[in-house]
Amino acid sequence: MLTNSLQSLDVAHHIHPITNLRRLERQGPIVIDRGQGIYVYDDEGREYIEAMAGLWSVGLGFGEQRLVDAATKQLEKLPYYHVFSQKAHAPSALLAAKLTELAPAGLEHVFFTNSGAEANDSVVKFVWYYNNAIGRPEKKKFLARDGGYHGITVAAGSLTGLQTNQKGFDLPLPFVRHLSRPHFYRAGLPGETEEAFTERLLKELEDTILAEGPETVAAFIGEPVMGAGGVLVPPKGYWAGVQEICRKYDVLVVADEVINGFGRLGTMFGCETLGIEPDILVCSKQITSSYQPLAAVLMKDFIYQAMADASEKLGVFGHGYTTGAHPVSTAVALENLAIIEERDLVARSKELGAYMHAGLAKFADHPHVGEIRGIGLIAAVELVADKATKAKFEPFGKVGLRFFDHAHEHGLIVRGIGDSIAFCPPMIITEAEIDEMLRRFKATLDDITAWIAAGMPD
Ligand code: PMP
Repeated sequence: MLTNSLQSLDVAHHIHPITNLRRLERQGPIVIDRGQGIYVYDDEGREYIEAMAGLWSVGLGFGEQRLVDAATKQLEKLPYYHVFSQKAHAPSALLAAKLTELAPAGLEHVFFTNSGAEANDSVVKFVWYYNNAIGRPEKKKFLARDGGYHGITVAAGSLTGLQTNQKGFDLPLPFVRHLSRPHFYRAGLPGETEEAFTERLLKELEDTILAEGPETVAAFIGEPVMGAGGVLVPPKGYWAGVQEICRKYDVLVVADEVINGFGRLGTMFGCETLGIEPDILVCSKQITSSYQPLAAVLMKDFIYQAMADASEKLGVFGHGYTTGAHPVSTAVALENLAIIEERDLVARSKELGAYMHAGLAKFADHPHVGEIRGIGLIAAVELVADKATKAKFEPFGKVGLRFFDHAHEHGLIVRGIGDSIAFCPPMIITEAEIDEMLRRFKATLDDITAWIAAGMPD
C-alpha cells in the first residue's frame, strides 16, 4: 500500500538498484528523510538504528558536521575541476599522498573513480594495459571467488561471484575464473579439518592456474573479509597461501578493501588484519563515509612505471572519468580520514567489534543460530533450519528476507544475505547503542522464531 505521494512518484518513475521491482511496486519504498549519529528516520518520523551503516559505508554516522563543512568550503572555492590532461587540484593531490601514507607498504600511486565498481573495472583495464606494456599480451585472465562482490559494471560484475548480479545480464565475461569461497562452516567437507579445507582451496587455486596456463593468468582479486557474500572470514593460512601461489606464477594480488578499508576490521586496512601485501588495493565507501561518491585504486610502483612508459609510447593514458577525483569528494575524504585519526576510530572499532561479538555470542545457543562470524565491527549471524545438521531453510532466503522486513518494525535496519543477518554499524556507535541494537535484534529474532514455528506462512 502506497501511503504518500513521494512513494507513488518514486514507484512510478524511479528504477531502484538491487531490488525486486514488482515487490517495490506492491509495497512501496521506505522513504528515509534524515539521519543523525547511528540513526535514520523515515518521512513518518519512525526511527531506525542503521546497523548496516547504509551500504557498509557511513563510518562516521549520519550527522558529521565537519564533513558538511569540508564539502561546503570546497564547493565555494572550486566546486568542480577535472584532472585530465595535466590539470590538478589540491584536495586530490593531498588525498593521493595521504592514502599512500596509510596504505600497506609499496602502494605509491593512486587513481580516483566515483564508485567501487568503476575502480574494479579500472583495475581490470590497468592490469591488461600493464601486461600489454611489458610484452605479455596473453596474460589477461582474472581469478575471483564465488561469493565475492566487486560491483556490477560489465567487468567488475564479471569478477563478482554472486548469481543475483549476473543472472539475466549475460555475465560473467569469459576472462574470469571463479574459485571456491573460503567459508569452512558451509564449504568444509564432513570430517575435514579447517587446515585440510585451506589446503584444498589452495590446491584448487594452483591447479586452476596450471590448467589455464600461468602465462594467461594475470591477477587474483579478493576481499580480505568477504562482505556482501555473507561476511566470510577466511580460514587461517588462506591468504598467506594465496599470496605464495600468486607470487610463484607471477599473478598480481588485488585486495578489494571497499568494505574492509578505513578501520572496519579494527585495522586501517583489512590487509593488515589478514596479512596481505597486495600489488593493487581498491577502496571506497568509508573513504568519505559515503557523504560523497569516491573510490580509489592504489598500486605498486612497478605497475605504474610500466603504465607511464606505455602512455608515453601511445601518446596518452586513455582512461578516466569526468567526475573522478572530484574536488568536493576528495576534500570530504581528507576531512573524514583526519577525523578517523583524531578520534582513533580504528582502535575504537576493534574495541567496539569485540564488544559487539561478545553480545552476539549470547545468541550462540539459539536453536536456529548456525554460525556467528565476523571480525572487528562487521558480523553475520547465519540462521539455519537445523543446528545439528546445518540444514538450510526451504526455500533458502525466505527467513532472511522476512527478518530484514520485520526488523523495521523494531526500528532496526540490518541486511539479510540468504538467511544470514549482517551487521556493519557506523564506527561511531557506542557500547550502549550496541546493547540497544542487539536488544532490537533479539526482539526481531523472537518474532521470527515464532513465525518459523508456525510454519513460515506467507
Ligand atoms: N567491492 C566491494 C567489496 C563492495 O562491497 C562493493 C559495494 N558493496 C563494491 C566493490 C562496489 O562498489 P560500488 O557499489 O560503489 O560500485
